[in-house]
Formats: sequence, structure tokens, C-alpha cells
Amino acid sequence: MRPIVARPDGGLEVLGGFRPAARSGGRVLKLDVSQMIPLPEGTTLMHLPGRRALALDSKDRPVDVEADLLPVAAVLPVGHLRTLVPASRPLPGSRRLPLYGYSAVVEHHDELLVAALSTDAFGWWEPRRYAGGGLDAAIESARLALPGNRLVDHLAICATDLRCYTAQNTFLRRYEGALPASPACNADCLGCISLQTDGQAPAPQPRMRFAPTADELAGMASFHLGGTDAGIVSFGQGCEGEPLTRDDVLARAVALIRNEHPAATIHVNTNGSRPQVLQRLIDAGCNSVRISAISFTDAVFRAYYRPVGYSIEDVIECGRVMSRAGGQVCLNLLTFPGLTDSSAELDRTAAAVAEMGARQIQWRSLNCDHDWLIDVLAARGLLPDDGVGLAAAYQQLVDRLPGMTHGNFTRPVAMALD
Ligand code: SF4
Repeated sequence: MRPIVARPDGGLEVLGGFRPAARSGGRVLKLDVSQMIPLPEGTTLMHLPGRRALALDSKDRPVDVEADLLPVAAVLPVGHLRTLVPASRPLPGSRRLPLYGYSAVVEHHDELLVAALSTDAFGWWEPRRYAGGGLDAAIESARLALPGNRLVDHLAICATDLRCYTAQNTFLRRYEGALPASPACNADCLGCISLQTDGQAPAPQPRMRFAPTADELAGMASFHLGGTDAGIVSFGQGCEGEPLTRDDVLARAVALIRNEHPAATIHVNTNGSRPQVLQRLIDAGCNSVRISAISFTDAVFRAYYRPVGYSIEDVIECGRVMSRAGGQVCLNLLTFPGLTDSSAELDRTAAAVAEMGARQIQWRSLNCDHDWLIDVLAARGLLPDDGVGLAAAYQQLVDRLPGMTHGNFTRPVAMALD
């Protein structure tokens, strides 16, 4: 294997005379071909501005690559998990990187390989299913069916300009549809993709600016669920804040949807902050939840989420209330190489998912500037140095949690709890 870098003109260059390296947390590691997979279809290659590429010399010592050659990273399509970050270091005064999950990438026998695992191949999300036509006509149908419903215009931008698959599904009336509900949030995550409160990195999916009514949410849901291939409606999308902050409106919307669609999966993606509100939604007919967490270590959770008015106990309680009700509980595990794979984190994650009654772990690559996250954690003494590697961590949780499914995508309740 050989390192690859980007020339100033943007072209890729294979670097002779060096061995490729990658990073796990703050550690620079030697890469082994067994850690790498061929670049999956849909991968994007990016250079990292303001960073110096690192490689290994003939004695496997980390060295700087020459200054005008930039580090290169792979950004993976859904269904894949990044296991190592690119070997690079930020230069003084460099800007924060945009919010992507940057993976280490190398050349091997004229092919590019990436440090990753393939974690889910659920057909609903195959990129080729989103290459067909019909979207404009589907949006127009929604406009005619739902006059005055602000969610139509909002989701139309998500579906077309931002190419959000879930928004596209909503109009195409298939698979999982989006019901963004809240412009507000009770957290301020370092990696929030809808709002970066310090403005140091652009938010790729700008936060919705209105609060839909229960009738708007239920109307959009009914439009989607009228499709023969539609199975799920989901509150809590990348373009919004925290849906559980809309308690009364969401409870009313869920009741309206459940009344019309007795068999639908009514799902909420949440930060898990408000178990009492989730209980109200369950009472109204919600039967599936995906709870996001970066860590079940209180100090790490607080450093990343910057939560207002809730704790990691509330997050776990959200799992308990849904599992007690017999619904589907998924953990959306925001992973970071060098953090998620430490022994303390693995012990706490395994204990938390059992406590929550989770049926599935969705392994997500955390999208944010890795050096920024490392700095935040290291400044608080929270960066472990005993990571076993994300691939080994994945296998550990597979072995330690019999009966748990592992993947990337939410299934309809009838399929998941079968
Ligand atoms: S909980 Fe979600 S919406 Fe709220 S700050 Fe975090 S990522 Fe953003």
C-alpha cells in the first residue's frame, strides 16, 4: 500500500518512498491491508485544506509530507462505517473542516482502498434507487394534494437542492418518509448538521425555520403513507432540531396519523432528552424510536451534546419507555475512532443498550472535524488511549450482545420485531 495526497491543482498523487498511515484519536498508526476495503460506490474523495499530510518513513516513524501536497480523505456513502481517520495534522490558524466523516484512504495495486466496514445493505437505501426521474412530478402532486402545507416547500428543497433521500421518499410515497417537526433544540452538538452555533463550519442542512402544525404533519404523513411501498414516517430529520421539544403538537399529529394508518411505523429520531414526551407519543400511537448517543460516559456526552435540561439518564430512560411499550428501539451510535473503541466506552455502551432494550445498533460515522473533536475531548482529559480499533469494537459488541442486530437503517416495526 502507498499513501495518496492531492496536488495543488486537485489531482491525486501516489506518494513513493513512504508507507501509509492513519489515525485513531490522537494516535498515528501503521495501516494494514486487512483494515481496508475497496472504495464503495458513491464514495467522495476530498482534500483537507489547512492540513499537513503525514506518512511513515522506512522505520515506521510518522513524518510530514511536503507542504504543497494536501492530505486526502474518503467520505463514505450510507451503509458504511469509517474505522480510521486520515493521517494529517492541522496547520496553525487553519479553519475548521466542514461536517463530514473523513476516512483514511490509500492506493494498493492501482486501486483505492478505504479504512471502513460495510455495515448495512438494506435495499431501500441503495443509491441507484435515487437516480430515477419522477421527483418533480411527485412534488407537484403533493402541492396539489396539500395546498398551504409549508412542509411541502420545505421538503421540496431538501429533496432537490440537498438531495436528501428521505425527503425524496416522502414525495415518491415509498420506504421511509420525513416529517421534520422542530426548529428548536435542547442541545448544541459539536457535530450538529443543521446548526453550528459558533459559525466556524457551514451546516450542510440548514435548520427549518418554522414550526409545523399537527395538521401539516399529519397531512404530509398521509400523503406519504398512501403509497403502496411506504412503510415508515419519521420525525427527527437532519434539517431540524429536536422533535421531542414539540410535545403537544407531536402527540396530536401521531394520534391523527395512527387513526388513519393503523399498520404504519410511526418513528422518531431523537436525542433522547424527554422520556415523558416520548411516553405521550407512544400513548398516541408511536411505535419506534432511534436514540442518538456518542457516549454513555457522562462527561463525554456533555462535552459533545452540550445538553440543556436533560441528562444521560433521560437518554437511557427513553429506550426503556419504548421497549416497555413493545416498540422498536434503535441506538444511533455516533462513532469516532479512538473513542468508541476504548474499553470503558465499550463496557458502558453494552450496558446502556441492554438497559434501553435496544434491538438494533446503527453504526454511524461522526461527521465533524476530527481534530476539533480531539482537541475538545483532550482539553478535558476525556480522550482514551486504549482503543482496540473500530472494526474490533464492532465485533466485540456483536459477540457481547446476542440477539442484537447491527446496521445503519431503521426497518419497519413489522420487519424488525418479527
Ligand atoms: S440533538 Fe440533533 S438537532 Fe439538536 S444539536 Fe444535536 S444534532 Fe443538532
